[in-house]
Amino acid sequence: MTPAFAWPADEVRRVGHRVVDTIAEYLTSLPDGPVFRPVPPASAERWQSDTLPAEGVSVDVLLDALARDVLPFPFGNGHPRFYGWVNSPPAPIGIFAEAIAAAMNPSVAGGNHAAVYVERQVVRWIATMVGYPPSAMGLLVSGTSTAALTALAVARHAACGRRGWDVRARGLQGLEQRLLLYKGAEGHACHQKAAEVLGLGSAAVRNVPSDDALRIDPGALDAMLEADLSAGHLPVAVVATAGTVNTGAIDPLAAIADVCERRGVWLHVDGAYGGPAVVLEECRDLIAPLARADSVAIDPHKWMYAPVDAGLVLVRGGEAMRDAFSLVPPYLRTDGDVHGVQGLPWFSEYGIEQTRPFRALKVWLTLRAFGRDGFRALFAHDVALARHLAARLRARPDFEVWEPQGLSIVCFRYLPPDADCAGGAVDDLNRAVLSEVQLGGTAFVSSTTLAGRFWLRACIVNPLAAEQDIDALVDAVAAAGRVAAGARPRAPLGERRD
Ligand SMILES: *Cc1c(COP(=O)(O)O)cnc(C)c1O
Repeated sequence: MTPAFAWPADEVRRVGHRVVDTIAEYLTSLPDGPVFRPVPPASAERWQSDTLPAEGVSVDVLLDALARDVLPFPFGNGHPRFYGWVNSPPAPIGIFAEAIAAAMNPSVAGGNHAAVYVERQVVRWIATMVGYPPSAMGLLVSGTSTAALTALAVARHAACGRRGWDVRARGLQGLEQRLLLYKGAEGHACHQKAAEVLGLGSAAVRNVPSDDALRIDPGALDAMLEADLSAGHLPVAVVATAGTVNTGAIDPLAAIADVCERRGVWLHVDGAYGGPAVVLEECRDLIAPLARADSVAIDPHKWMYAPVDAGLVLVRGGEAMRDAFSLVPPYLRTDGDVHGVQGLPWFSEYGIEQTRPFRALKVWLTLRAFGRDGFRALFAHDVALARHLAARLRARPDFEVWEPQGLSIVCFRYLPPDADCAGGAVDDLNRAVLSEVQLGGTAFVSSTTLAGRFWLRACIVNPLAAEQDIDALVDAVAAAGRVAAGARPRAPLGERRD
């Protein structure tokens, strides 16, 4: 028998209450469990071999299965001692926003319905936050990777158009000039992916040298652009970063904007992680020049605590976005029917997606729940904890901290005074520390490569974290360091150690 599709109101309420209880139990019990534990091999086997059952089952059976097989094995973010990568816990209101958005289930391609206005407002609020003018346009997308692809497609269209080449009609087939993309050596790899997808090829990505603080050297950028322009190449864009993923470094955005303006090249700023920190007094001067960029990417699903996924692409001259993507010829555009069925110009004319989710609801509710000052306090909390961590580690003889420490990221290495510093021994030691810490369950950090060396990396985008959690991290890495240095085998998974 086919199960009923529609649920009576009582059933919606009964299941809803069970789900809310499940969420409440999950959130409140998280801090007592390990930050991370891998999916057990036997369970992983089953996931990969089970086939789709022919018959449906009751929702209660499903919720039991969720509690047993899914909820106990999270990614790790959401725990007060998770400091891996740039992944935050969700703002609680965002969790419920997801359910409400799904209940409405609109396509936000366009049309005259509330979700369109919610997204327009989110775009305008964040555009205003970064200092963009009212002519800016933007879209919520899956994340900064898609935001970068979208922005760089607009940049490519504009750059080719200025040379009289219609890249939408002709692609890159037969184009004689070489298209180039410039990014800092510390810029995120998603820009290389975008260059590949956009037909530039990864060989067309120029890595601009960094200074000692791992920021783009604007002089080196200028020299590269000058050489490439005089060789007849076509620079598509320069990508600068406000808050690199490795160390939280902020590229000298004002100097880079000067270079781009002088050379007539599109500037895209990757503010995936650090962009929102423009509201922090102490960061404003460094980050605010992103208002001069032609496009900006920001991830509300990172430091703004909206549940995944929520990325934002902003383009300062909104019409350039429409020119790069719209399939509606100008004479058919519906801009005159703002209060009719069609509503405002459709989002689908400004980007890649047609059917688009109601991502904006969780971002809008999160923005409204905290307000600008609330966010400021949340960022300040994370930055203060990062400084606390750096200070704790600097004070110890058995750790080295990467300087300068940036935003809410701390890179560090276990380096006891008697360590064997030959070759890659310290790198190997820290690789062992990383695995010990990650599987130990007390705290979670990630790693990176800086100046050719292996470093541990803590990124604190976590309002649930408190100083004692950071202290517990220090104890856990120090203990892991001693274990790794002595090459003693680690205790079995899940077992807590002192
Ligand atoms: C996370 C991140 C990206 C990639 O963004 P996604 O949302 O994962 O697609 C790019 N740049 C920086 C600086 C990031 O932190």
